[in-house]
Amino acid sequence: MQEPSRRSSAETIEFREVTKRYPGSTEAAVDGLSLEVPAGEICVLVGPSGCGKTTAMRMVNRMIDVTSGDILLGGRSVRDRKPEELRREIGYVIQQIGLFPHRTIADNITTVPSLLGWSKSRSSDRADELLELVGLPREMRDRYPSQLSGGQRQRVGVARALAVDPPVMLMDEPFGAIDPINRERLQNEFLRLQAELRKTIVFVTHDIDEAIKMGDRIAVLQVGGKLAQFAPPAELLMSPASPFVEDFVGADRALKRLALQRVRDIDLWTVATCRAGEPTADVRERTAEADLDIALLIDGDRRPLGWLSERGLTGERVRTELRSPAEPIVELDDILRDALSDLLASESMYGPVIDADGEVVGVLSMEVISHAVGSAPAEVPGATELAAQEHANGAFDVEGTDEE
Ligand code: ADP
Ligand code: MG
Repeated sequence: MQEPSRRSSAETIEFREVTKRYPGSTEAAVDGLSLEVPAGEICVLVGPSGCGKTTAMRMVNRMIDVTSGDILLGGRSVRDRKPEELRREIGYVIQQIGLFPHRTIADNITTVPSLLGWSKSRSSDRADELLELVGLPREMRDRYPSQLSGGQRQRVGVARALAVDPPVMLMDEPFGAIDPINRERLQNEFLRLQAELRKTIVFVTHDIDEAIKMGDRIAVLQVGGKLAQFAPPAELLMSPASPFVEDFVGADRALKRLALQRVRDIDLWTVATCRAGEPTADVRERTAEADLDIALLIDGDRRPLGWLSERGLTGERVRTELRSPAEPIVELDDILRDALSDLLASESMYGPVIDADGEVVGVLSMEVISHAVGSAPAEVPGATELAAQEHANGAFDVEGTDEE
């Protein structure tokens, strides 16, 4: 993405004692909010309904003006910027993404570039580039919003927000209206995209699980717009600052901690993979060396086909005799919490793990997950002691937590 290079680098966002009082109300919607979002990070604002999340977010691009205090973008006060200019330069994604129904997807995506007077061909190229970026086929460019699924429309919303390569993005419950399976997919896609783009993002949600998954830092707000805690997800889970935060984070903190690790971060089981027609003796030998005592049948591209039954190994050569399908299939990029829920949903103790090319790289099992939960995420400073302490208290007992 070469466009427009001057603005594309991320900027810090700093809230300084920001208060918002709506006319006619005595209570503040946001009360003395101070926090700093480093450039290139996702800051999630989370809290119960009415706690001021949307208000706080909208003051960044001056859809709402602060009553007192200030917000600085890249060190510069938003008060010194024209609201129209800010809104053009800041990507904005909302739940009901408000695509124009009578405009094509490409025209929707390039709404702001068109406003800025980009030529038709430059806009059109940008639309194609963005469709690819958010994982939509190019053919969709000429369709209309009603011809897309909810998840696809949400991807268009993200593409539109990225159109001018803004340094800052505001996202208000962007995946809130999507069913859980597609939401998980959209979250993963968005995190992958963000790993590349490194925008500074303010992300609003009322869902603590989404907050833990998406946030580099999380600001927990409580009604009245007061900041209850501002911390990275691990810290929030390990040491909630108040009974309110503890309650909001929920009782199943050990389980939630699974959202902090990805499948790729942990030691998977090894598995013997085999193809139909291979000598069975080789497969038996490899199976004996692997962690798992059954073999996984794969196709020519190393994609999993299913678990080989004992009968498949009775002859000289491997025959396609499956004991069970290779379900669920887990991806290296999945967070452990989602992978665990996939295992539970398919009533399976383990599942093959594939990389981005769909090739088998190992096996994820309940045991592997349980082991990972038992050892704290090593990269979190201070987490180890806390984890050890909680381990002693039985807080890591996954079976003892029944949510999700
Ligand atoms: P959240 O996004 O966390 O649900 P909001 O920022 O929308 O919360 O609202 C925070 C508080 O401000 C609520 O009490 C809400 O009723 C009030 N509020 C929001 N918008 C307005 C408005 N335009 N006028 C008056 N009060 C508002
Ligand atoms: Mg809101």
